[in-house]
Amino acid sequence: MKILVSDDVSVKGVELLREHGYEVDVKTNLDETGLIECIGEYDGLVTRSMTHVTAKVIDAAKKLKVVGRAGVGVDSIDLRTATSRGIIVVNAPTANTVAATEHTCAMIMAITRHIPQAYNSLMAGEWHREKFTGIQLKNKTIGIIGVGRIGSRIAKRMQAMEMRTIGYDPYIPEERAKQLGVELVDLDTLLQTSDYITMHTPLTKETRGMIGAEEIAKMKDGVRVINVSRGAVLDIYALAEALKKGHVAGAAIDVFPKEPLTKDINPFIGMDNVVITPHLGASTVEAQIGVSVDVAEGVMAALNG
Ligand code: NAD
Repeated sequence: MKILVSDDVSVKGVELLREHGYEVDVKTNLDETGLIECIGEYDGLVTRSMTHVTAKVIDAAKKLKVVGRAGVGVDSIDLRTATSRGIIVVNAPTANTVAATEHTCAMIMAITRHIPQAYNSLMAGEWHREKFTGIQLKNKTIGIIGVGRIGSRIAKRMQAMEMRTIGYDPYIPEERAKQLGVELVDLDTLLQTSDYITMHTPLTKETRGMIGAEEIAKMKDGVRVINVSRGAVLDIYALAEALKKGHVAGAAIDVFPKEPLTKDINPFIGMDNVVITPHLGASTVEAQIGVSVDVAEGVMAALNG
């Protein structure tokens, strides 16, 4: 059986598939047309976040039995069309949890102490100290939207920084929140009382556009906003306006409504109170090996019925 790997995934997963007798082609950077042209010959497809498995791609995939997503978010796959064609979709939901958690922590630290800005300034031959005065995390409140695998780990790590942790997640039991030391509140309370707001929900019909201009307006003056979940959860253009006005003091963003985020659609160009990274949440050696092995195992299980 033939499997196409259409995004950069760790070689470990590819080797595992080959060891089990699958013929694997690695063809990255295909656009929709390129994918449509070649998908017909494959029984399995392995993607990361760059490949969009659209209805048109699925229509052209005459032999396709499984789509594997090396990572957690399956929002890049048209699940309804895949399911209607009997195509199994598998993901690797846990191997990059720690990586995304640690990246979020790094982003929180970076916007709190202006580390990238201070680095750039010093590398430009300057020596400013007052300009980069930060704040301390201790005794601040962090509001976590989505207290799942990543959100709950953020709570644990930020509690170690002596922050108060509150959360909005309509799907977790009160008992679980208690165990985590997270006070569950409604979304408005979280928006109005948090010094830091970090998003960790999946991208669903409910969460798409969940944090827009209206929600940002409800946030405290001087709030810091972090998004390492999915770009479409947060309106970055409304956020950029609030940053310009000084209502939002800082933002750290790893994911964007359209990726790659090119200069012409990047609302943060020239702003010095923002830290942005190109969707690096899962980009650690350990996470990439983990997701590629997990997804290879999932794809093989699906192909073996
Ligand atoms: P998870 O499923 O374990 O947790 C998500 C939580 O969000 C759940 O507790 C769920 O109840 C909650 N939730 C769902 N709908 C909600 C809503 N409307 N309001 C509030 N809460 C809601 O997922 P996870 O593994 O923690 O991943 C979280 C997000 O992080 C996903 O979007 C995932 O794609 C993203 N992610 C990004 C990167 C990256 O590279 N930046 C890496 C890994 C994961």
